[in-house]
Amino acid sequence: MGVTDNSTRPRRAVASSETAREINRDILLHAIHLHQPVSRADLARLTGLQPSTVSVIIGQLIDEGWVLPGTLGRLPRGRRPTFVTLNDRHVMLAIDLRPGRANLAVVDINGKILGRDAVPYEIKAGSTADEARTAITRIAQAAQSLKAAFEDRIFLGLGVSVSGRVDQKTHRLVFSPNVPWGQIDLHEELQRVLETPVEMENAANACLFSERWFGNFYDASNILVVSVSEGIGTGMLVDGSVVRGRGDMAGEFGHMTLDESGPLCGCGNVGCWEVLASNRAGLRYYHEQAPETTLTGFQELLNLALAGDLRALRSIDKMMTWLAQGLTMLAAGLAPEVIIIVGDCTALWSRICPLLESQLIAKSITPHTPRVVAAMDGDAARLRGAAALVLHKVLFGQADFAPQSVRGGVHPKPEPEPVPA
Ligand SMILES: [Zn+2]
Repeated sequence: MGVTDNSTRPRRAVASSETAREINRDILLHAIHLHQPVSRADLARLTGLQPSTVSVIIGQLIDEGWVLPGTLGRLPRGRRPTFVTLNDRHVMLAIDLRPGRANLAVVDINGKILGRDAVPYEIKAGSTADEARTAITRIAQAAQSLKAAFEDRIFLGLGVSVSGRVDQKTHRLVFSPNVPWGQIDLHEELQRVLETPVEMENAANACLFSERWFGNFYDASNILVVSVSEGIGTGMLVDGSVVRGRGDMAGEFGHMTLDESGPLCGCGNVGCWEVLASNRAGLRYYHEQAPETTLTGFQELLNLALAGDLRALRSIDKMMTWLAQGLTMLAAGLAPEVIIIVGDCTALWSRICPLLESQLIAKSITPHTPRVVAAMDGDAARLRGAAALVLHKVLFGQADFAPQSVRGGVHPKPEPEPVPA
């Protein structure tokens, strides 16, 4: 059985995304998402739409199953308004493909993680296509089991976040030095074994979508997401648009050279930002100080650091000094309002945040130093990102990000062209 159950999936209105009705609908869905439970009157006030327009569209959204009429509100006098909420029976299956491990989750329309699983696998450079397919089959089996535990929910689809870049036209993984899935067409293989449409994106870009849907920065137009794991990937929202570049390759700042005499990187160059500031770099710094160690995983290093081990703390500090070095370059070049760090290292946020901030302030060329924050949910950020890809596709179609008027919606907006009912 496939992951998407089309028979119970609400129909999207048959209308071109350019129509005013469609735009208003998107504005309202997002406003409900941000302010729920919320009354129709408040929705009109928040979006600047006519109350009659709001009532018509909310009626349609209720008929389609996206929105639920909720409890009666209480006002000092007058009629009691009915609050509406998004229907959280809608859920997405999310897979975060990391080197050596796939994390899986069922995430609801409000970003709540309802269930999780993890599947370890061994795929490296030199693995055969059959080995890659076997790993995908195991991941798919785990995904089906997870989905079966939420039979009463309406599945909207599968979102996948990957380390590497994904061509959004062909869905091919175009660059992934740390996760060599190149033997197979990953997108097609997942779609085939799970029998569902798949939205696949670079993990840092996926986290941009997660911030828009589930995070605190839904109304920021300039966001830099920096994903620090086995490599370093960035996702960029500049002037309200996701920066994709030629062949969807934009954002590979992890491969800018910061040290000409640095270690060899998976990309073939030396001294890339990610060989100096990724989790693997942190581990390497620890091994340099403690040659006798048998420690192999970054989580173990984090545990040591959290327990106050000085060599572990020094290793993390060195990794963060290099991370800050790259961030100052990106901040100068892209002028983000906020830099969101995604990764296991954020477990030590109280230590690393001042280090990153002080470097950014020291080297800032303007008085407007960007805020540096940890992704709100650490390890789960990439899973929520994968889920947000599906939600965004289902609600907004192909568009990367909704038009400016849809984002936030907290200030009155001019009423778009009226559309006959
Ligand atoms: Zn590199």
